[in-house]
Amino acid sequence: MTKITPQPGLMDIALYQGGQSRLDGVSEVLKLSSNENPLGPGEKAKEAFARTVHELHRYPSTDHLSLRTAIAEVHGLDANRIICGVGSDEIIHFLCQCYAGPGDEVIHTEHGFAMYRISTLAAGATPVEVPECDRSVDVAAILAACTKRTKLVFIANPANPTGTILGAEDVARLAEGIPPQAILVLDGAYAEFVDGFDGGAALVETRENVVMTRTFSKLYGLGGLRVGWGYGPKAIIDVLNRIRGPFNLSETQLQTAEAAVRDRAFAEKCHDLNARMRDWLTAALRKLGIEVDQSYANFVLARFATPDEAEACDAHLKSEGIIVRRVTGYKIPEGLRITVGDESACRRVAHAIARFKGVEE
Ligand SMILES: *Cc1c(COP(=O)(O)O)cnc(C)c1O
Repeated sequence: MTKITPQPGLMDIALYQGGQSRLDGVSEVLKLSSNENPLGPGEKAKEAFARTVHELHRYPSTDHLSLRTAIAEVHGLDANRIICGVGSDEIIHFLCQCYAGPGDEVIHTEHGFAMYRISTLAAGATPVEVPECDRSVDVAAILAACTKRTKLVFIANPANPTGTILGAEDVARLAEGIPPQAILVLDGAYAEFVDGFDGGAALVETRENVVMTRTFSKLYGLGGLRVGWGYGPKAIIDVLNRIRGPFNLSETQLQTAEAAVRDRAFAEKCHDLNARMRDWLTAALRKLGIEVDQSYANFVLARFATPDEAEACDAHLKSEGIIVRRVTGYKIPEGLRITVGDESACRRVAHAIARFKGVEE
């Protein structure tokens, strides 16, 4: 008999459930379950990706200087305070590993992204779930939940799967109100979809306790590439870099992401398509009597009368070859999260839901 046991907390981790991508017996599947870009990656990104094949025998850059410089130039940031990771998931993981351990608390909100809890448990720390108010992050509730042991507070802004956003004043109040040993993490995975929004970068500039995370997975259509980044105070970024694997990103990842962030025309095209189709899909669903909050991301959350109705609609959509995301695990059992696709995808899902509702088209 061995006495091999995993570290405390690890057995409490439930495996992350990704969006389903296949349906048995259906060839023309429309996948709207993982907030992927309907246009795919841009041409410049694809060209950069292909070029790197000739250099695969070389180890990649360890400091990511070229990508950090590109991100800094595009967003008007300080390249020395950017860290790049294997998706923003890795930045979330670094933050938990570096700042939380056994006995520490990490706050996430009621409908918050699953990775916050997973990374918290992986660090041996204790996840603390705080209620939201009508599917929006509740600053007062978070501040009330803070203790001497709170080390990190995670919010996604805009949030997934609700699509709601917290205003700049509320975010600043949160940063000001958390205890002195805590870091506020602003997950900006969907920041690019909000007009004129910096994802919290300006707040990072003025405070020592705020870190912003961003990703290439959503607007840039590079979810499969796995590149994200964080922006924070120099002292915190220095700590995160100590546990970052020196070769955590390949040249293929680095150069593809750099080409993508420099391709502003494609980014704008993706943003505009999403804004237009998100409005269209929201209106189409509301016309069918389905509740939809204004979304600030690249998906909408359709809320049905009951969990049973959401389940039945999900089954109907599957029968028509359409995969959306049930969000029972995010405590919204009456909801279906639907990624905003291109025009034909939005029409197809709206028509399928209309048929489910028995509405003649
Ligand atoms: C999709 C998403 C991310 C991005 O994760 P990556 O690891 O960068 O692909 C981060 N946070 C939230 C809330 C998301 O929905």
